This record gives sequence, C-alpha cells and structure tokens, in this order.
Amino acid sequence: QKIKNSSSARRRVAIIGGGLVGSLSTIYFAKRGWEVLLFELRKDPRLEDKTSLSQRSINLALSARGISALKNAGSNLDEVVLSQVAPMKGRMIHRRKGGLLSQLYGVFGECIYSVDRATLLGLLLDDAEKSENVKIYFEHQLKQCDFDARVLDVENKNDGTISKYEADLIVGADGAYSTVRSQLMRVVRMNYQQEFIPHAYCELTIPPKKNAKGEFEFAMDPNHLHIWPRHTFMMIALPNLDKSFTCTLFMPYEKFDAIKTEDDLITFYQLYFTDAIPLIGEQNLKRDYFLNPKGSLISIKCDPYNYKDRAVIIGDAAHSMVPFYGQGMNCGFQDVEILDKIFEQHNINSQKPEININTFNTNSAKEQENDDMKFRKDLERALDEYTRYRHIDVTTICDLAMYNYIEMRSSVISPIYITRKKIEEWLHWLFPSRIIPLYPMVSFTDMRYSDAQRRWKRQNFLINVIAGSTVLATFAALVLGLRCGRCNIQNVNYKDSMVSIIKNIYEKISRKIF
Ligand code: FAD
Repeated sequence: QKIKNSSSARRRVAIIGGGLVGSLSTIYFAKRGWEVLLFELRKDPRLEDKTSLSQRSINLALSARGISALKNAGSNLDEVVLSQVAPMKGRMIHRRKGGLLSQLYGVFGECIYSVDRATLLGLLLDDAEKSENVKIYFEHQLKQCDFDARVLDVENKNDGTISKYEADLIVGADGAYSTVRSQLMRVVRMNYQQEFIPHAYCELTIPPKKNAKGEFEFAMDPNHLHIWPRHTFMMIALPNLDKSFTCTLFMPYEKFDAIKTEDDLITFYQLYFTDAIPLIGEQNLKRDYFLNPKGSLISIKCDPYNYKDRAVIIGDAAHSMVPFYGQGMNCGFQDVEILDKIFEQHNINSQKPEININTFNTNSAKEQENDDMKFRKDLERALDEYTRYRHIDVTTICDLAMYNYIEMRSSVISPIYITRKKIEEWLHWLFPSRIIPLYPMVSFTDMRYSDAQRRWKRQNFLINVIAGSTVLATFAALVLGLRCGRCNIQNVNYKDSMVSIIKNIYEKISRKIF
C-alpha cells in the first residue's frame, strides 16, 4: 500500500488524539514549524448538536499550570480562554444537617476557573486550524504503528479504508486507553500500573433560577466550587457561564447499584443532599441520574513515555489520574509546555535540510544524511530527557489526586483539619514565600509537583511542631496559673521562666523554618 509521506520541507509529526492535550500540542508543534497531522477518532466536536445529551455542559477546573501552557502557546490563547470562565475562589461545604462553610483556596484571593470542556476544545481546535501547516483528520482512528519504519495505519471511520502515513515523530495524546501506549509496550520495556478506584461518577445539572424580575441567576454562590462531603462519597458542583452548575456525584459502585427506583433516589437525596433537591429539581434529578452514564475512574502510571526518537505519549495517555485535584488536564497541558521547552533546549529543528536538485551530488546527499542523523540523535536525547524529567512529577500528582479524594469527601469537615488549615493559612499570610499550603503550590504555581510535595512534607512537620507546642504551652500555662492561684504563689521568677520557655520554643521553631 502506498505510504502517504511528506513532500513538505518541514519535519512531520503525527499527533494521535484531538482531545484537549492533543489539540494544544498541535498548536505548539505548528508554532515550532512542524508539519502536523492530527488524527481524532470522533467527529469534529464543533459541529455537534449543542442540545444533545452527549453535549451537556461538562466543566473542568483550569488553574495556573494550564493557564501558563495556554499563554505560551501564543495568540493570546490564555486571554481568550479566560474570557469564557467562571472564577472559583474557594470551596463551599454543604453540611448534611444544613449550613454552609466557605473555605478559600488562597489567602491572597487566588482563584481556579471553571471552564466548559467543549468550549475550551473548540477554542483550541480553532486556533490549531489557523496554521497552514496543520491538517486535522476527524473520524480517523489509529490502528497500529510501525515505529521503526515510522509508519502508522489509520482507519477512516467513514469508509473503513486504512491508509499508511509516514511521520518523523508520533505523539500519543489519545487518552487513558491509549492505542499509542499499547503499541509502545510492544517495543519498549514499559513499566505500567493501573488502578480502578471503587467509585464511579455521574453528572447532574443545577439549572439557573428565575429571580423576582424574571431574570435567570445562579441558584448558589457562583464563586465557589460546591462540595457535599459525606465521608465515603460526595457530590461537587462547578458553575457554568450560562448560570447553571454541573454537579458530579462520586460514589462507590455498590451505592449506585443500590439505587434502583426513583423513590430510592429521592430517599437517598433526602437523607444526604437535602438542600440539593430543590436546586436540581426532582424531575431533573430523576432524569439525569438514570439517563446519564456512570463513568469509572482510573489511575495510570507508566514509564518511559518515549521510544527512541520515534514516539512519545503525553496527557492521559501517559498518566491518568483520579479527578480530585482538578489537575488531569492542567498536568497534560504542562506536559506540552515542558516538551516544547526541552525541544528548545535541544535545538530540535523542524526544517529538513534543503536539497538543491540542480546541484545534487554525493556530497550534498551525505550532508543531508548527516543532518538527518543529527536531528534524530537530538530528538532522541530530548525525548529521553522529557521522560526522565517528567516521570517523578507525574507520579506525584497521580498520588496527590488520590490523597485529595479523602480530603474532599471527608477531611474538609473535620475540626482538626479546619484548625490545621487555619494555622497553615495564617503562617502563609505571615511568610508568603516560605510557607505555602499544598493546594496553592499545586494550583497557583508552576512549581514541580515533586518539589511541592517535598516542601509540603517539610512544612507539615513544622506545622505539627507548632500546633503541638501551642497545645503544650497553653496546657503548661493553665497548670501554672492554677497552681499559682491555689497556692497563692506570687513568685514572679517562676512565671517569667514559663514565659521564657514558651518564647524559647518559638524561637527554635522559627530558626528551624528560616
Ligand atoms: P482525552 O480528553 O481522553 O482525549 C483523547 C482523545 O483521543 C479523544 O478525543 C479520543 O477520541 C481520541 N482517541 C482515542 N483513541 C484514539 C485513536 N486510536 N485514534 C485517534 N484518536 C483517538 N482535569 C482538570 O485539569 N481539571 C478538572 O477539573 C478535571 N475534572 C475531571 C472530572 C472528571 C469526572 C474526569 C473523568 C476527568 C477530569 N479531569 C480534570 C481530567 C481531564 O478530563 C483529562 O485529564 C483530560 O481530558 C485529558 O486530556 P487528553 O487530551 O490527554 O485525553
């Protein structure tokens, strides 16, 4: 079969998967001057019927890492996207017995942003298509890759024909069940680990409500990510620009299975999410719960991400994480930005050497061969470095995402958690660059995930010492006060020495921090 190879003077990259990460990667490669072929299994999402069920509003939390990658993609992509988001400055906890509790994400008013997935993807595809060196093939599925020959087999889903395409580099951005990854496993000694958590998710909607003037408005505070934590399960809600909220119910499969009838559902909601029933509306709740799919949640780690200079996987294809840190897409966007930086450092040139046909001789053929070899060596070095650099960070955020599920569904209402959080925030406010809580490090900086985790563990130790010594000091002062009162001791030196002990403890701690 004839191979569709490139006649262009540019190096060719085939990107598999036109989801969020593949689309952003297309923009970056095009900006670097590559000829980009983007293959996406599904139809062009921009042509889908917006009212169909599959197009119901699904939103994502966009934060600093994602924004940075959008910014560095050029064409003011970050500004374009940020003009279509709803900012969320904290969590709003809905207690089971009623009552709300706001927990801000950052003490300096930092926000994460709720963005509609379809809108974001549309913006990325529009931007990618502006480049004349990009060709997008929708309804085209990668079937297999011959990495050594640099050839891929792609099926056109419309007519079932399979074509062969040649590419200098294959980028797998084809999601958690990646074909590129499974093809890589045939040629690379890849370590692979996957875990399905026992929980599934189901999306529901809180529609806008009408106010007294007949205008539509948000049914709850729109500047928060709402959480109904119920220890072993939870519901969350993120605001949309159309003044609705998209709720996601996360629960163990058995709990989903136990709700068989509409009455079971309403009884369950009356028990655990009473305040949400009038917000969602009984009829909507019954319809959405029984009609919408129940998605499974998987965590995937693998290593390495590349095979020589031939292929690399990014986004969910390389690391799928449970969604509780709101980092899956952000981390995937950061993959794209980091890969691009490493290409820059390694001077990966997207232009093929020019061959002048008129003066073609063995010398120029040799030069071209040398140039080709240099390109391949540089590319392999760059991709190896990408794997080495990125792996620790990606596995860290996969673990943190798992950890955050417990925090979101349970810890956020524990008095110990709330007190620790207050101490941490207070210290952060006092020493903004020295003590930073984990959530802001992950969501509001582009610090390496592994550095954030290391710093957090160190800080945790100190905060525990501070909290512990405060309790001890208070206790000691109380005992001392009682003894002084009971025995009527007016010994000033004794009291002074207690004060100096407490002072000493704090000085030692602060010396340890700074
Ligand atoms: P995908 O979005 O899965 O895209 C892969 C694409 O590849 C798809 O379009 C698919 O059709 C295509 N494809 C697959 N196989 C082939 C093939 N063989 N040939 C051609 N094309 C193919 N992340 C956040 O940052 N913030 C959040 O708030 C957040 N919330 C989430 C909530 C839930 C419930 C879930 C499940 C995830 C959430 N995530 C969030 C994670 C985020 O959705 C993913 O990390 C992100 O979508 C990954 O993008 P991707 O492009 O790598 O993969």
